[in-house]
Amino acid sequence: MPSPSCDIATLIKSQAASLGFDACGFAAATPVASAAVSRYDHWLEQGRNGCMAWAARNRDLRCDPSLLLEGARTVISLAMNYYPARFQPQGAPRVAYYAYGRDYHEVLRERLSSLAAYIEQLTQCATRPCVDSAPIRERYWAQQAGLGFVGRNNCLIIPGKGSYFFLGEIVTTAQLPPDKPCTLTCGDCGRCELVCPTGALDGQGAADCRRCLSCLLVENRDLELPAWVARVAGGRVVGCDACQQCCPHNAHAVPTTIEDFAITDAVSSLTLEGLLTMTTGVFRRTFGHSAISRLGLRTLRRNAALAAADDGRVG
Ligand code: SF4
Ligand code: SF4
Repeated sequence: MPSPSCDIATLIKSQAASLGFDACGFAAATPVASAAVSRYDHWLEQGRNGCMAWAARNRDLRCDPSLLLEGARTVISLAMNYYPARFQPQGAPRVAYYAYGRDYHEVLRERLSSLAAYIEQLTQCATRPCVDSAPIRERYWAQQAGLGFVGRNNCLIIPGKGSYFFLGEIVTTAQLPPDKPCTLTCGDCGRCELVCPTGALDGQGAADCRRCLSCLLVENRDLELPAWVARVAGGRVVGCDACQQCCPHNAHAVPTTIEDFAITDAVSSLTLEGLLTMTTGVFRRTFGHSAISRLGLRTLRRNAALAAADDGRVG
């Protein structure tokens, strides 16, 4: 238990930092603001969630964190840097940085659970850690908790640090002092919209998942993708970082200190031939603890075939 002079909020933030989180903020667990709900509903109505059917489920939970944990008073938002120190060699089938290392779900879940246990011991209150495991508006809460703002590239941007961050939340019944929401914006930059190879960004901070390569290459499980995807995929086989790489907020991104997120030998030695001939057993052994496991071998090979077709055309 803290001494009376200890501030519980400071203790939680300092414990978060010692667990490797780069930012931690608190927001009151009130219903999501109606303007943000309307924007999300409009995005769904237009079908811009594409193949991500899960985005339309659990609307009530997504609108109110107190439905995720009875008596919730606070949403704690946390961010962890994954910007790599080493990159894939030039010409390799391209993997987005978030999938370079160990599966972030595993890493964040371990650390969020550890922080949640600390909070429960400190406050005697209940907690619910979330890392893509619950329908919660994670960028909205990160903005409310003062971590940063949602950029026109649809990513959470932490001022001075950039956007290469995994987000996680702990919903708790503990009453913690809310931080000031971040009110910054991208202003009139718009660089990401120009750079996006598919025109998926709408200028308002939302992406059209029917066009975004991050969604098409990872979430879409169709045996074949439309022919135009092959023309713009640019050798990518997992995700796309184009709208982050061009962002001035990432110009001074600092490599992560989390060893688990460092590029694995499997990703740094990836070849199209290796992917096209990979067996299920090798896929499981190689990517069982990687975010790449989410694609499944069939989808990964489909993407490799697209990249190979693109190679042939260029050659
Ligand atoms: S991830 Fe790639 S395709 Fe998707 S919005 Fe960003 S730049 Fe466009
Ligand atoms: S590139 Fe410019 S417009 Fe796009 S997210 Fe970064 S700052 Fe915002």
